[in-house]
Amino acid sequence: MKGIWRKVTDLLAGEISEVSLKTWILPMVPVYADDKVFILSVPDAFSYTYVIQWQNLITHSFASVCSRTYDVQIAVTGSQEIMEALRRSTSPNSSAAVSVSPDEIRRTAAQLNPQYTFDAFVVGSGNRFAHAACVAVAEKLGGRNYNPLFLYGGSGLGKTHLMHSIGNFVTRKHPEKKVVYVQCEQFVNEFISAIKEISYDEFREKYRSADLLLIDDIQFIEGKEQMQIEFFHTFNALHESGKHIVMTCDKPPQSLASLEERLRTRFSSGLIVDIQPPDYETRVAILKRRAQQNNVNVPEDVFDYISANIATNIRELDGAFNTVLAYSLLAGSIDLEVASAALKDIIQPRPSRQITAQMMMEVVARFYNVSVNEILSNRRSMDITLPRQVAMYLCRFVLNMTFPKIGEEFGGKDHTTVMHACNKVSSDLNSVNSSLSHDIEEIKKRLSA
Ligand code: ADP
Ligand code: MG
Repeated sequence: MKGIWRKVTDLLAGEISEVSLKTWILPMVPVYADDKVFILSVPDAFSYTYVIQWQNLITHSFASVCSRTYDVQIAVTGSQEIMEALRRSTSPNSSAAVSVSPDEIRRTAAQLNPQYTFDAFVVGSGNRFAHAACVAVAEKLGGRNYNPLFLYGGSGLGKTHLMHSIGNFVTRKHPEKKVVYVQCEQFVNEFISAIKEISYDEFREKYRSADLLLIDDIQFIEGKEQMQIEFFHTFNALHESGKHIVMTCDKPPQSLASLEERLRTRFSSGLIVDIQPPDYETRVAILKRRAQQNNVNVPEDVFDYISANIATNIRELDGAFNTVLAYSLLAGSIDLEVASAALKDIIQPRPSRQITAQMMMEVVARFYNVSVNEILSNRRSMDITLPRQVAMYLCRFVLNMTFPKIGEEFGGKDHTTVMHACNKVSSDLNSVNSSLSHDIEEIKKRLSA
């Protein structure tokens, strides 16, 4: 059945624009076939209205591929026709030539990526709580517990992955539950065309009949007033009947600009969890998992090199790793040299000369317009303490020197003084209106110049 469908889509590729093919045709799933009927499911009523214009073309393509006439039917996932087809295909007496498992159909229907599972998710300090919350929701759906779950964090940190994991878990464990996953942008677009085409009831039905509604990147609703009202009602309808709602966002609810207050209150009424960038150990663990998945042997220092240099997010970490893999195929081996050549545009080479505490003090002193002797002194005026503390901080975190060693280099100061200096700079860096991070970036640049 899948094979036939693939041939049909190949044929359609010559007739329909590439964009239309990708957007409307390829998301369709063959769900049922016998010797007369072939049923394709489309994800939603919205797609249906588009796809149906090609029904004749599709039927003809089937005829040329199979040299027989099928009654090709297109139906919306979850609709009567599809449920009936599912029932027929799973009944033991069925003679239907169905090769897709019901599980697979449900997953596709909900637009869930089968790769995004809890099993494939590496847990580390930055995402431990988010992961636990998602598992808890998946295991105990509905009710007031963690409902809604609001998951927020920067890009590429695994929000979508966790959200699909909940969906995949639930579709497998509770096939009777209706899982709806939607990117907020799609939700908004569907709403707009539903209003235009007076198919509002279908839109409403699709979302309000969900047992689990997963809305990804909810920040897309910012500033869209009408949409917020619609979502407010969808939210209430689901929440009141004990259905579960999970949202992801790139920021916490209180930072969502121009969001209706009542909606903000709703968002915050369940559990809010954040997801933080992965620490070094987690990054290594993820890369090791990727190596395993790709069945390649990667030396430890290559894991270390990539993890130490790519700290932003997991999407970029994956990107860097894939670049190294691709490069190593050409190079015929995989080692540190190959890795640094592959990533030369992403990772700046480490400064070749060894930077000493003395050099650090000189660069910092010049930057702040003080002398090295003043840094070494015990003077406590603000214009001297700041450069001294910054220099100590950089010795600790850029040169990886120990506290006692730094104390020694800085004119014999106690290690607790150094610790205090480093803590002070760290906390100043975290305060919102600090220009310190710019200073430090600039100093680092000068160091490697
Ligand atoms: P977000 O939605 O937060 O922008 P994604 O969920 O799309 O991020 O994650 C980006 C990529 O990184 C995906 O391919 C995802 O599978 C992967 N990823 C993210 N976090 C993890 C993790 N903890 N373990 C394994 N893979 C992860
Ligand atoms: Mg995402």
